[in-house]
Amino acid sequence: VILLILLDGKKYRDELLEEYKNTIKKENLDIRLDIILVGNDSASEIYVKNKLLCAEKIGIKAILHPLDENTSEDELIDLIHELNEDREVTGIILQSPTPESIDFDKCANEIVSNKDIDGFTKENINNLYHNRETILPCTVKGIIKLLEHYGIALDGKNVTIIGRSKIVGLPLALALENKNATVTLCHSHTKDLENHTKNADILISAVGQAGLIEGDMVKEGFIGVDVGITRVDKKVLGDFDFESTSPKASYITPVPGGVGPMTVAMIMDNLIFTKKREKR
Ligand code: NDP
Repeated sequence: VILLILLDGKKYRDELLEEYKNTIKKENLDIRLDIILVGNDSASEIYVKNKLLCAEKIGIKAILHPLDENTSEDELIDLIHELNEDREVTGIILQSPTPESIDFDKCANEIVSNKDIDGFTKENINNLYHNRETILPCTVKGIIKLLEHYGIALDGKNVTIIGRSKIVGLPLALALENKNATVTLCHSHTKDLENHTKNADILISAVGQAGLIEGDMVKEGFIGVDVGITRVDKKVLGDFDFESTSPKASYITPVPGGVGPMTVAMIMDNLIFTKKREKR
């Protein structure tokens, strides 16, 4: 019988936010986060609201720039440049996804790298590639921090990641490789997914397909990290079929309450990191 431990991202987030709040107060850090939201994607509106509330709760000034669905790339880039130059602005987030008419990667890359709180600009990705100090994408940082908090070592572990997006899977593969894990990166063209999931000491899924990972696809004692979010009616489901996979797990993240809360906390972590780096 394996003793199952839940990787409780919500609880750890609350501890971290308390710590950040104290640091900000004690060190008198004057931090401002500016979020640009183009259009009215309903999921994005919820995410943005969470980020703003979370920032304000710990003493970070947060400003939302809602832009019309029909905003042009030039107008968006003008705003980004203005915020780049504003000395009061610590960090800038361009909320993804943007409407079809806007090239997200191109526009996000206009954010000056030391205010790039999501870590999506070329310079920050290049730092990650070379294993140099950088602003890590928030979901990636949140997963690593959560595993470390529970004392889970990455060195030499077989880690299988499902999903290779530019915001989660791919940078996560680089970051874990930097921690000396042996990383397998799977995607929609992967043949025999099960071969790769069964071999994993740590299995991380970032697909967005509820119940994709079933109990017979994982090995006894595996560590499960579920990034996926699928909304069904009012429920939020992950990629793991929790009922069949959790009995075989030694550690697993719940959905909701695992990776999601960590992602938001890491925005605050990156803002504090940036502010302190600016001061040194
Ligand atoms: P994308 O849609 O950009 O990427 C999904 C990835 O899954 C792609 O690489 C795709 O492969 C792969 N994929 C799709 N179907 C399969 C399959 N059947 N087998 C194996 N691989 C498959 O998503 P994101 O990375 O942006 O997000 C992934 C999920 O994580 C979503 O549910 C999103 O809501 C959630 N998310 C959660 C966050 C959190 O904080 N908890 C933060 C960010 C995202 P291919 O490349 O070949 O198309």
